[in-house]
Amino acid sequence: MGLKGKVALVTGSTSGIGLAIARALAAEGADIVMNGFGDADRIASLRAEIAGACGVQVAYAGADVSRPDQVGAMVREAAPDILVNNAGIQFVASIAAFPDEQWDRIIAINLSAAFHAMKAAIPGMQARGWGRIINTVSTHGLVASANKAGYVAAKHGLMGLTKVAAIELANSGVTCNAICPGWVLTPLVQQQLDDRAAKEGRKLAEITHAMLSEKQPMAQFTRPESIGAVAVFLCSEAAATITGAPISVDGGWVAQ
Ligand code: NAD
Repeated sequence: MGLKGKVALVTGSTSGIGLAIARALAAEGADIVMNGFGDADRIASLRAEIAGACGVQVAYAGADVSRPDQVGAMVREAAPDILVNNAGIQFVASIAAFPDEQWDRIIAINLSAAFHAMKAAIPGMQARGWGRIINTVSTHGLVASANKAGYVAAKHGLMGLTKVAAIELANSGVTCNAICPGWVLTPLVQQQLDDRAAKEGRKLAEITHAMLSEKQPMAQFTRPESIGAVAVFLCSEAAATITGAPISVDGGWVAQ
């Protein structure tokens, strides 16, 4: 229970990786502020389940992180010791066919939201002399793929923002790092698998194998729980001097 007494705000924690990070931080004793979209009953039952299993408080803030005013207000109210900028979306199309509104939406959610959240969280962390900022980046913050202009640009930007924060906060007790997953089976990736299976008229199992092996030497998904465990490590004393780092959890994707 190394995080007892700390408050962790995890954006996009109603699903996938964010939910696994929220669960892992709660298991270490942190009180959680969940955020993200979804069915109200399901969110209420997730809150009750995590609070009951871990003996912590689990609040929910429904901010749309594409709205700077909502992000700022949510973070100021939560006053987190641990901020996980995790909410993210994907859109797949070539640059020539990329809709302007999808570009703007991806930059707002996958990049600008983290800036606004960090801006609101950092003064409190500095005043308390301890803080952990963890940005869910991606292999796509380090290398590119075709047809993901918005996502790759936003994630490279988020990696850069992570490094700036690490330098600015170096002697304040606050670290800022990036987790860079490869393929993790969540609704965000399931959508890409389904779209590609429909477009190419191939079986889902075939498409899954193709998608994994096109990018990763290790032809298997990372489990969301493994990303949660990395987040817990980044909050630990052992990680006190890890800052500005991309932590790859990607089956060898960027080793190539
Ligand atoms: P997901 O679709 O399961 O979850 C996304 C979460 O973000 C949900 O809780 C959703 O409600 C929330 N969200 C979306 N738009 C929002 C908004 N405007 N305001 C507030 N919340 C919003 O996806 P995931 O795979 O768990 O992705 C989480 C993060 O991990 C994303 O930043 C994604 O880019 C990153 N990532 C995912 C993978 C992967 O393979 N799944 C790999 C690398 C990085």
